[in-house]
Amino acid sequence: MGEENSYEAIHEYFTKYLREHKHRRTPERYAILEHVYSYEGHFNADILYNLMKQDYRVSLATIYNSLDLLVECKLIIKHQLGNQYAQYERAFGNNNLHHHLICTNCGKVKEFSDKPIRVAIQSKAFVHFKMSHYSLYLYGICGKCKDELKKGIIHIPRFTEDSDDF
Ligand SMILES: [Zn+2]
Ligand SMILES: [Zn+2]
Repeated sequence: MGEENSYEAIHEYFTKYLREHKHRRTPERYAILEHVYSYEGHFNADILYNLMKQDYRVSLATIYNSLDLLVECKLIIKHQLGNQYAQYERAFGNNNLHHHLICTNCGKVKEFSDKPIRVAIQSKAFVHFKMSHYSLYLYGICGKCKDELKKGIIHIPRFTEDSDDF
């Protein structure tokens, strides 16, 4: 994909990909692409389904299917975190460069941005490796789970309470 990351360019890239790989160019797939590219931040298949069913007839199976296709052609990034449902985010046109905080109990993903970390990673040079992109995950317990843990609503094996709030 070139410098131009407008929605039009994304659309064109997707069309080319579908054609070259002999996938059908269905209106559902384009509708899903459009909804994904107008969504800010992370989402899962259910969020997308609930968003789309308001004005579009599309099944959850079609959504899963199309998300796989979008991952395959690298238009979206998939975050598969343990046993939790996969979360996705668009790969282009997202100027919000961020890192991820993952709750190991409920699977919630929170974004955070830290320029010094970003600069440090991006300035790394390797002799036999050319980095194209990266993602960073920090694991821990989210605020909600921490509260529930404190109140005894949930129990997490081997969890020690020594971390600060997110
Ligand atoms: Zn993200
Ligand atoms: Zn949590």
